[in-house]
Amino acid sequence: MGLLLTKADRHADPESFPWEGETIAFWDTDGGIENAFPEIERLAADCRFADCSHAHEPGCRVLRAVAEGEIVQERLDSYHKMNRELVTIAERQHKCPDRVEKERWKEIALKVQALKKREKGVY
Ligand SMILES: [Zn+2]
Repeated sequence: MGLLLTKADRHADPESFPWEGETIAFWDTDGGIENAFPEIERLAADCRFADCSHAHEPGCRVLRAVAEGEIVQERLDSYHKMNRELVTIAERQHKCPDRVEKERWKEIALKVQALKKREKGVY
């Protein structure tokens, strides 16, 4: 996880985020996107709403975890930031946001897989 945080921090500034080109570098983590925020993904399973955005929903398990100090606010901020950036990509690609909402995790996971395959070829 230390390596993950380092990579995330390196791209923390949205203005310098390399959207053109190797955008997937941000999520180049072992196991793909589902492991980028494992504790949040785990908590999200207990949210009242399946499509909870963990921003203001009542019964949000993630927000409760932040309130109780189970996870740090910065971690959730990073999670939201990533989501916003994914939406930005969708808008640039003129995709239907609802569709992207459903497809984004799968797409990212596939890209990570492709990147890993490519890295194996290089090294
Ligand atoms: Zn939630």
